[in-house]
Amino acid sequence: MRLDLTQLMNKRIPSLSFGFSLTLGDVEDAPQLPDDISLPAPIQVSGSVIDNDGYMALRVHVSADYTTVCDRCLAPLKGTVSFPLKRIVTTGGAGTENMDEDDIVWVKDGGINFDREILEAVILELPVYHLCSDDCPGLCDTCGKKIGDGCTCGEKKEIDPRMEIFQKLLDKMDK
Ligand SMILES: [Zn+2]
Ligand SMILES: [Zn+2]
Repeated sequence: MRLDLTQLMNKRIPSLSFGFSLTLGDVEDAPQLPDDISLPAPIQVSGSVIDNDGYMALRVHVSADYTTVCDRCLAPLKGTVSFPLKRIVTTGGAGTENMDEDDIVWVKDGGINFDREILEAVILELPVYHLCSDDCPGLCDTCGKKIGDGCTCGEKKEIDPRMEIFQKLLDKMDK
């Protein structure tokens, strides 16, 4: 993804604002996503570059769908991270030496490419824990099935004493 800013820099856009909506391209030597995360669709980026008389401000909204698995029961999960991102766009010059390098996107050949910044920000925004539900009971140590959904180990142990004799009878019939 490359945004051409030559028109903005040459002040040919009356409003001095330039809106766009793009999807993230491939990032060279991309930062690694966590092992359990994959991105099924390109990251969506929309926003604008506004010329504030001397320096340009990039304001975007980032939205990324991801897939992962529940940390407890390994059920597949989908999620979305969505957040705003602001950067100063500059060609260098006075004042920039005092700015935090992380806040700056440098103009190269009349345009900017901030795919890497976006991808790094998405990785930071991804939640560390993933649960299919807050009270997910996880997998049974004995049978490996999800507790409350397929696992019956606990149910056998909690059998009503009055039913025990009936259960023994059933067990005998099985033999
Ligand atoms: Zn779960
Ligand atoms: Zn079980």
